[in-house]
Amino acid sequence: MNTKLIARDYNLRVTHVTLKNIDRVVKKFEIEEKDDLINNAFIIANEDIILGMYTDHELKEAAFFHEIGHTLISERFENMVHNDEMLIEFQAWIEGLKVARKYKHHFSNKTFQYILESLNSYYKPALKVYSTRKKKCKNLKQLDG
Ligand SMILES: [Zn+2]
Repeated sequence: MNTKLIARDYNLRVTHVTLKNIDRVVKKFEIEEKDDLINNAFIIANEDIILGMYTDHELKEAAFFHEIGHTLISERFENMVHNDEMLIEFQAWIEGLKVARKYKHHFSNKTFQYILESLNSYYKPALKVYSTRKKKCKNLKQLDG
């Protein structure tokens, strides 16, 4: 998979962190700790995707699509969910999966499972907040009524 070419289609730059460039990357992008660049990825200013050093290269590819996904989330969506971090992370995966499909990227079952778990980890807490909010509203109504 050519991440540079795909990133270019979205007007993004991509940096693959290696032992050779890690010090430079930390400095240039003001990353707080080197450890943040292990099994982790970032999007900076909707321009630079930083792909950390991954023990599993497939997860790195999945993260790459997820970070592109972040750049595709509309302001309208962000406003709609009141900038809810969980729902934005959820949406970034959805958008990222669409990009992966566009480039006919195949995820292994294991990686697909990982993505599903990530989706759930964002979706479930968001749902929980939503359902408790609804209950609260109902209680308030009863008090009023
Ligand atoms: Zn994210």
